[in-house]
Parts: sequence; C-alpha cells; structure tokens
Amino acid sequence: MVVLLEVSPISTEELWSSVRDHRVLGHLPYQAELPEMHQMMRQTCRDYADRELGPIAGKLDKEHLFPVQQVRELGAMGVMAVEVPEELGGAGMDYLAYSLAVEEISRGCGSTGCVVSVNNSLYIGPILKFGTQKQKEQWITPFTTGEKVGCFALSEPGNGSDAGAASTLARQEGEEWVLNGTKAWITNSWDASATVIFATTDKSLKHKGISAFLVPMPHPGLSLGKKEDKLGIRATSTANLILEDCRIPLGNMLGPRGSGFKIAMQTLDSGRIGIASQALGIAQAALDCAADYAHKRTAFGAPIGKLQAVQFKLADMAVAVESARLLTWKAAMLKDAKKPFTKEAAMAKLAASEAATFCGHQSIQVLGGMGYVTDMPAERHYRDARITEIYEGTSEIQRLVIAGQLLKEYAP
Ligand SMILES: Cc1cc2nc3c(=O)[nH]c(=O)nc-3n(C[C@H](O)[C@H](O)[C@H](O)COP(=O)(O)OP(=O)(O)OC[C@H]3O[C@@H](n4cnc5c(N)ncnc54)[C@H](O)[C@@H]3O)c2cc1C
Repeated sequence: MVVLLEVSPISTEELWSSVRDHRVLGHLPYQAELPEMHQMMRQTCRDYADRELGPIAGKLDKEHLFPVQQVRELGAMGVMAVEVPEELGGAGMDYLAYSLAVEEISRGCGSTGCVVSVNNSLYIGPILKFGTQKQKEQWITPFTTGEKVGCFALSEPGNGSDAGAASTLARQEGEEWVLNGTKAWITNSWDASATVIFATTDKSLKHKGISAFLVPMPHPGLSLGKKEDKLGIRATSTANLILEDCRIPLGNMLGPRGSGFKIAMQTLDSGRIGIASQALGIAQAALDCAADYAHKRTAFGAPIGKLQAVQFKLADMAVAVESARLLTWKAAMLKDAKKPFTKEAAMAKLAASEAATFCGHQSIQVLGGMGYVTDMPAERHYRDARITEIYEGTSEIQRLVIAGQLLKEYAP
C-alpha cells in the first residue's frame, strides 16, 4: 500500500527566520542562577551570535572565510581574552564566563567558537600560567583585541594522542634556539601572528625532554603547509607548521627547560572545558533547529512535533545537552575555585562532544530531507560537531584520563 504524505509547503527563508526568532526568544537555562557578571557575558554573547554570527555562519563555512571582522568585534567585547587580567588587556573574568562565551558564540557559528577557544585556552592560557611578566606583556596583550590570534602546535604527523613522543627538535646555538621538525593540524595557523610550539631538546629523555617555545608568525624558517580541506569548522584554517632552522632568542622558551609536556597537559586540561563549551553550543543549535522545525512542519495533517517518535528524539537531545552543560559548568567552577579538575574537564569534553554528534545526527533526522541540504543549518551542525570528539584528545583519550583519575581515587 502506498501512503501519501500530506506535507505543508514552507520556504527555507521562513524556516530559517523562525529558527532565528526562536534563538532570540529562547530561554537561557538556569540564567537566573548565575552571578550577574556571568549572566551579562552569556546574554551579550548570545545577542552577538544571534545578530552577527548565525546569519553568516553558512557563508563562512561554504567559502572557508576566516571571520576577521567578527573576531575583532569579539576582541572589543573581551571575548578573545576572557581570563586575562584587565591590566594585560583582557576581560579579567573567570573560566565559567569563558565557557559561557564559547558556548554562545559556537551556537551561532562553530568555527568562530573554535577560533575563540584556541586563542583563549591554547595560546593565551599557557603563557598566562607559565610566562614571565615580560612574556605576558609581549605575547598576550596584542592578542586580546582580536587584531591578532595565536595558535598551539603540539601534534605532529607521527604522533597526536601520544604527545610525549614529539620529534621536533630544539638545539641551542649561542644565544638562540634552532627549531627543526613538522607540527601537524595546527588550528588558526594561516591566520595566526604567533604560536606556542613544543619541541624536544633531548629525545632520550622522552616527554621530560620537551620544552615550550614562543615563535612569532610569520618568521624566517617557519612555513605553512596546505590548508586542510575539512569536514567541519571550515571557516578555520588548519595546516602543518614546518620548521627548518627556525631561529628564536633563548628568552622565547616558555617555562623551565623540560617542562613542555607538563605545560601541554595542563593547557589541554583547561582547553577541554573550552571544547566542551564549543560542543555544547553546537549541540544546542542542533536542538534549537529541530525543536523549531517540529512545530512548523506538518505531516499526516499535524505538526511532526505531535509525533511521539519525534518527541522522543527531542527529549533525548535535551537530556544530552543539559547533562553535558552541568558537567561543563562544574569543571569550570572547579578550575575557578583552584581545585583539581582534570577528571571533570575530561568528563565534560566527552559528554559534550558526544552530545553534539548525537544532536547533530538527530537534528538532521527530525528535519528529514531539509536536514540534508545546506539551505538549513542542521547539516553544518552535524559536520562541525564531529571534530569535538577528536581534537584536544579523542573520546578514547578522555576515557583513559577519566579512568586513570578514578582508579587513583579508589586506590587501596
Ligand atoms: C581540525 C583539527 C584541528 C586540530 N587542531 C590542533 C591544534 O591546533 N594543535 C594541535 O597540536 N593539534 C591539533 N589537532 C590534532 C588533534 O589534537 C589530533 O588529531 C588528536 O589528538 C588525535 O591524534 P591523531 O590524529 O594523531 O590520532 P591517533 O593518535 O593516531 O589516534 C588514532 C585512533 O587511535 C585511538 N588511540 C590512540 N591512542 C590510544 C590509546 N592509548 N587508547 C585508546 N585509543 C587510542 C584514537 O582515539 C583514535 O581513535 C587538530 C586536529 C584536527 C583534525
């Protein structure tokens, strides 16, 4: 028997503007529970994302356009350096504020959320924690305004998860370090003005031989590989950094010699809260899109939101998003309270990234054919979500971190 579906014609523009309206009017979960400073940051970023990012995110993605103007505006709002003290040019806020900002920006545009996250957590983060006052003034302050962005070069073609196996070399020659090797997958690389880079001064010491260095970009001896053609976050640039006798002053070492691995791991602990927040924003955007469509689209004479099969999808998406949000806020609050947060950050990243890929998948299902085409944002959310399970430690590595911490807690 052939069942004829009764469908209502509804234009893409109508649907998209309705998603936008929903985002503007949509409630902010637990907004009232947050301190005023955090409410302000959240609302400001949400308004900005609705007004400036949502409407152009599809174009940025399609044309691989780095959001130059938007990053400058976010710099002016304090979003490119949320945790940096005001005297260094930052917003002087805390990690919870940063997490809220990244979530809201990513809700509007996953790529822009990624740029914000890399500049704050991966580039500025380690310099703020391990840099001298002089290094902070030189390498942080110009990166607070959005005029310049930084990057973080840890991964190599031969090792990603196994970061301690770095083979990029740093040798001392007189008053200089000379760097040789290749760093892989570096986010922001084509748009960056500096990088924190990890190289070993003594390979026989394994991870204890790794140190962190600050390198301006462009710089003699440092070149960029081709821009990777990616599944998602296509408005960000990702490329190899190739170092061929790249010379930098001795003073460009960040932290003590041999502390690079510790710097990288501590940076990633914090960075994972940023990626969890990025994933949350993408997951929420996918849910917004699906819930709104469920009201608008009719089949069999009624809105598809009346169908229990669709309701169950929305309910499961909402549970995944809300539980990941609570884990993310918990990790950020522990960090702000200067308490250990390694396990909670890994839990937040794992839960939020899996929520994002789940919600991206389900959102497309709720939209049916309209989910599969670029006229609607659902397919972009699906593509943007995928990377959050890979960078700053894959989901497998998060599980290893969580289990390692857990077993320590239960040690006899
Ligand atoms: C778009 C993009 C942007 C990136 N940006 C940056 C950046 O800015 N800076 C940077 O330094 N890096 C960056 N990366 C690199 C990223 O962090 C690595 O890709 C990631 O850590 C995984 O490393 P890998 O690709 O070498 O995979 P591998 O380490 O080779 O892993 C392959 C598979 O094996 C699994 N695996 C590996 N070891 C274990 C284990 N011990 N137990 C269980 N499973 C394991 C992994 O989970 C994965 O499924 C980026 C990557 C991408 C794709």
